[in-house]
Amino acid sequence: SPSPHSLSSALKICICVRKRPISSKEIKKKDHDSITVTNPLVTVHSAKLKVDGITKYIENNSFKFDHSFSEFEDTHELYKYTTWPLVEFILEGKGGRATAFAYGQTGSGKTYTMSGIQKMVATDIFTKLGEEEGRCKGSDTVVTVSFFELYGGRCQDLLNERCRLKILEDGKGEVVVQGLEEYQASNPSDFLTLVDAGNRNRTTHATEANDTSSRSHAICQILLRSSETGRLKGKLSLVDLAGSERGSDTKSHNRQRRTESSEINKSLLALKECIRALDSNGTAGKAHVPYRASKLTLVLKDCFTSALAKTTMIATVSPSSSSCDHTLNTLRYADRVK
Ligand code: ADP
Ligand code: MG
Repeated sequence: SPSPHSLSSALKICICVRKRPISSKEIKKKDHDSITVTNPLVTVHSAKLKVDGITKYIENNSFKFDHSFSEFEDTHELYKYTTWPLVEFILEGKGGRATAFAYGQTGSGKTYTMSGIQKMVATDIFTKLGEEEGRCKGSDTVVTVSFFELYGGRCQDLLNERCRLKILEDGKGEVVVQGLEEYQASNPSDFLTLVDAGNRNRTTHATEANDTSSRSHAICQILLRSSETGRLKGKLSLVDLAGSERGSDTKSHNRQRRTESSEINKSLLALKECIRALDSNGTAGKAHVPYRASKLTLVLKDCFTSALAKTTMIATVSPSSSSCDHTLNTLRYADRVK
């Protein structure tokens, strides 16, 4: 398994950018690559000018992040830096809440990145638990998976026929997704069968209803519990967010679209504020955490308020010149989260 990256392991909040390769379809459309990544910087060349056969870029905007991944780095490289520290953190068994978000415009690589990460998490969690089992004879840890989606104000179980779920805050201030199924996984293959079913449930539906997946947040949670007491030893949430461009679509003539857009807009704004409210220790500092401002932040309340929390955001961007405005918006958002 990959060795921990010392810097990112120490970070409680880690904000990264990933640029995907330009596609053949974009090249055919005569789009050009308008992003340069020189870690930790990302530069957007928002206008190109050809003078005497020489290409000049005008209006360069640079942003600096904890790490920027170019199109030449694979998901494993990104995983080592962004997610492996989260896996190690929850495996400590102290009740840690770890969260990784993929944020970006539709088509920028959120799902590609998250599904790669899911596969690596599957292998690493069981490998690590197996090593521990060898050491202390009989692991006390049970791994369970739940997977649900927030779509237009509704919460649906992706592992149980899109059953509609209720989000409740109990008397102790804990947020519970009522009725959410939690399935046990005993090995990486069990785990991936569950995750694949959830992912398929999302995409099958997408073709039926005008790309639902770009308008929904998908939340895959991996829980480590004590087999004896059921106590939560750690929780990892992998969140594939709705397309960031969907939040600005508030002028649509379609009423349902408008409602969906304002819901997405609200949740992405609330998410930004909640992450910003975490202090450099990753825990909620003195600042007010506005987790009640959206369903997304409400279901993730413990990620923002737990004393033991670690959060990563992976902002994905498309290199295509026709996406420059969306890319700039994504980078500005990620920059504000820091
Ligand atoms: P999103 O979920 O943000 O809408 P996708 O993950 O579906 O975007 O990616 C859009 C397309 O780009 C897919 O065909 C995907 O396979 C491809 N893609 C995304 N990121 C990468 C990458 N890093 N390397 C190669 N192909 C990628
Ligand atoms: Mg997607």
